Amino acid sequence: MTENYIIGNGIISDGFSFLIQNGAIEIENGIIKQIGKTDELKSKNMEFFDLQGRLVLPGLLNPHHHLYSAMATGISPIGETDNFTQILENLWWRLDKSLDEESIYYSALYGLIKSVKYGVTTIFDHHASMNYISGSLRLIEKAFKEIGVKGLLCYEISDRMGEKAIPQQLDENIAFWKDHIDDKNVHGLLGLHANFTLSNNTLSLIKNKMPPELPIHIHCGEDKADMQYCIDNGYEGPVHRLHEYGLLPPNSLLAHCIHLSPEDYDIIREIQPIIISNPESNANNNVGEMDLSKIEKYCLGTDGMTGNILGTMRSHFLRQNGEISQPLDILFQYPGNILKRFFPDSGMLEIGKTADLAVTDYIPVTGINLDNLFYHLIFGVEGQRMYMTISAGKILYKDGKIQTIDEQDIIAKVKKAAQRLHKKYYE
Ligand SMILES: [Zn+2]
Repeated sequence: MTENYIIGNGIISDGFSFLIQNGAIEIENGIIKQIGKTDELKSKNMEFFDLQGRLVLPGLLNPHHHLYSAMATGISPIGETDNFTQILENLWWRLDKSLDEESIYYSALYGLIKSVKYGVTTIFDHHASMNYISGSLRLIEKAFKEIGVKGLLCYEISDRMGEKAIPQQLDENIAFWKDHIDDKNVHGLLGLHANFTLSNNTLSLIKNKMPPELPIHIHCGEDKADMQYCIDNGYEGPVHRLHEYGLLPPNSLLAHCIHLSPEDYDIIREIQPIIISNPESNANNNVGEMDLSKIEKYCLGTDGMTGNILGTMRSHFLRQNGEISQPLDILFQYPGNILKRFFPDSGMLEIGKTADLAVTDYIPVTGINLDNLFYHLIFGVEGQRMYMTISAGKILYKDGKIQTIDEQDIIAKVKKAAQRLHKKYYE
């Protein structure tokens, strides 16, 4: 595959600090070598992709996803789903218990295919498969490497299989993290499901065994049940409880942050964890919405609902009645900052950093500049599939096709794996 090339005749923007009309990007050995005007770069004797006026953005980050749910479409809950806990018990926990070696791998592969089509080049995945714990993260990693995207993987520890199953879940996280410290594309984190599925004993055990610098990735204050559990255990809220156990090292990821106490907000202001709002999932589970007046910095995740980050921003925009402050920072600047903490070679469309790019299939016909870019994203790009997705210089998606695998062959295998998974789920 072409390693050195130029994409040009595009509108190039990092999403927050510059926007170049008739722009081009030179890519050499996976790195962005130059960003400039097409006329200047085109004179070089290199392969040239003519974008015909399309808008080019940085490759997108999805900081909270559950790839294991990728083959769940159409599945019915077994029992009531009147509240959040019932949704977990009667749908998601039943599904994850049905996952095996084959379905973990194909769920990941299928979920990644869907994400790449929407310009996502980095995914932080939160995985559970209670009857296939050891080795599960390796299966997901295999899918990441085959598709060619970057990721942070973890196993979401919880008490729901009893305390005996905790060491195995903990080991899966720690061993994977250790083995991937020097990996360029995939790293590990410590996954925790949520406060309300982790007893005080379990939190103590985790604290004693975990390397102190290992960040966690957890659902935090997603539903009022999470807050109530913490209060019942003598804490002020879910952030407070984790903080008291010493479980919030720098760069820890807190997903949702909807039901929090004043004490929780104070701790967030003090230690500044990475906060991820998941508006489509919040709507689907009817759990409420993060209080944007209390949380200054956050980014958007999909929580297994979709692979589409720009579409998720559109939902967020509409759910907030069109009132979001600094939306481009939420989409690009802050995710770029997070990305660099885990992958220092990566950036958001920067010279000298890996070429991770999302070429939208949108050719603006009205004036576009940094001031109105966000509205072009919401009303022009409309969360549609990309024209091209590039990760570390490699073209992963182009002309409606994934370029790194035989998509037709994979989809046939995904169908078979999904059929088996659904059969197991209903057994
Ligand atoms: Zn989640």
